[in-house]
Amino acid sequence: MNIAIDGPSGAGKSSIAKLLAKKLNYVHLDTGSMYRCVAYKAIQNKISLDDEELICQMIDNTKISFDSEGNVYLDDEDVKNKIRTNDISLAASNVSKLPRVREKLVSLQQNMAKNISVIMDGRDIGTVVLKDAPIKIFLTATSLERAKRRYKQNLENGIISDIEQLQKEIDQRDYQDTHRKASPLKKAEDAIEIDSSTMTIDEVVETILKIIKQKEKCA
Ligand code: C5P
Repeated sequence: MNIAIDGPSGAGKSSIAKLLAKKLNYVHLDTGSMYRCVAYKAIQNKISLDDEELICQMIDNTKISFDSEGNVYLDDEDVKNKIRTNDISLAASNVSKLPRVREKLVSLQQNMAKNISVIMDGRDIGTVVLKDAPIKIFLTATSLERAKRRYKQNLENGIISDIEQLQKEIDQRDYQDTHRKASPLKKAEDAIEIDSSTMTIDEVVETILKIIKQKEKCA
């Protein structure tokens, strides 16, 4: 039983998907990391982020994989931390606008999910990648709350940031992700929306576990 989790940046999708995967013994696939890997490699190779043709050729010669610890490998190099910078976040949002890049990554994601139970998080999982997933969650939080979470995270890593600036960047990415032509971020009709603004991670996980149990009862 595949589980799709979509929502805007910083809503906690990946942390929640990781915890759920552990509890349910599922494989977690963080599709945002794949767009990040593509952006990172394009920048390394000095390819313009709107050169769809060259980026597609590059993807054909690229290997992206994950391990059970949540590490991300780009051509066998562990890039988990390198792809988490602000610059790569925005660059990932840029390459994700390119329809052929999306096609390629969607097809890779669908192949990865073949014959196994996955929890996949991203922007178009419930609407495109796993359209038939029996459980679809749309996880949101206000942009101010997401900026505050990112601020705290940065602080824990010894980085002092500015909440207002973080909120601006989040708003910019939200705008790009919801207004692009190719698979814009939107809630699937059959997705259940959870606003996590005033919830802890554990509360969100418990809520989703209840939804899964309910679904199993009805099946
Ligand atoms: O989820 P994360 O913030 O790591 O994703 C980085 C970027 O990749 C997003 O801003 C979005 O533009 C893009 N993305 C996407 N479709 C997905 C996952 C991520 O367009 N399924």
